[in-house]
Amino acid sequence: MKDKVNILGVYVDMVSIKQAADMIMDFFGEDKLHKVYTPNSEILMVAYKDPEFAKLLNDAELLTADGIGVVYASKILGRPITERAAGYDIACDVLDRIKGTEHSVFLFGGKPGVAELAKEKLEEAYPGIKIAGTRNGYFKPEEEADIVSEINNSGADLLFVCLGAPKQEQWLARNAQGLQGVRVAMGVGGSLDVFAGTVLRAPKWYCDHGLEWFYRLKKEPWRAKRMLALPKFAVTVLLHGRSKKYKQD
Ligand code: UDP
Repeated sequence: MKDKVNILGVYVDMVSIKQAADMIMDFFGEDKLHKVYTPNSEILMVAYKDPEFAKLLNDAELLTADGIGVVYASKILGRPITERAAGYDIACDVLDRIKGTEHSVFLFGGKPGVAELAKEKLEEAYPGIKIAGTRNGYFKPEEEADIVSEINNSGADLLFVCLGAPKQEQWLARNAQGLQGVRVAMGVGGSLDVFAGTVLRAPKWYCDHGLEWFYRLKKEPWRAKRMLALPKFAVTVLLHGRSKKYKQD
């Protein structure tokens, strides 16, 4: 698997944003569902501690490096990924390519009202984009089957699942079988909030310098504990990333 890097047991594709979007466009032509996840260091730490979750991630057709920590890890492991390929950026690229075509997207996740607002904003930003439906991300387990039916009935072939990680990946693993017309399902975390404008993305300067985590920490200090995953991840990759257990095939 020379186009993937084994990061603590998770096989991350060595792709740029554009290459990821190219792959997704190809996925539309194949008659099956493709799962796309964009793990950051926090999620790779979850997978490191939980082999079942690592297996679930590895079951995706495309896994991209979301976050500077993952990009650095790929360099340490000798299979450098050229750039961070965040779910939000890939989603924007794909939306730009499918606007005005027969493809349509279903927006699933976020607090009540957020997906509807994101729909309005996306229709402005990507003229001709078809948004097949919306559904907020707060539901009881017994409502899951109805959500799957709603997505199927919408006719969407692209699905954004925005429940935060690892919830969105677990939701997709549970429901992938039931999704009929969907060809690409992407777990894209808080992207609907950014599309809707309810959360601002870090300014470009922070992203370009690998400091988006710092911007988020300033804006959302309650994330501090979660963010400790980043240094823990760096140390774990340095100590164990090159061991036999995680060798590059
Ligand atoms: N969310 C949801 N259902 C839940 C929990 C979270 O729809 O049960 C949404 C939440 O409203 C937010 C997103 O999932 O829009 C999580 O964003 P967060 O920034 O925590 O995720 P990350 O991008 O860090 O994975």
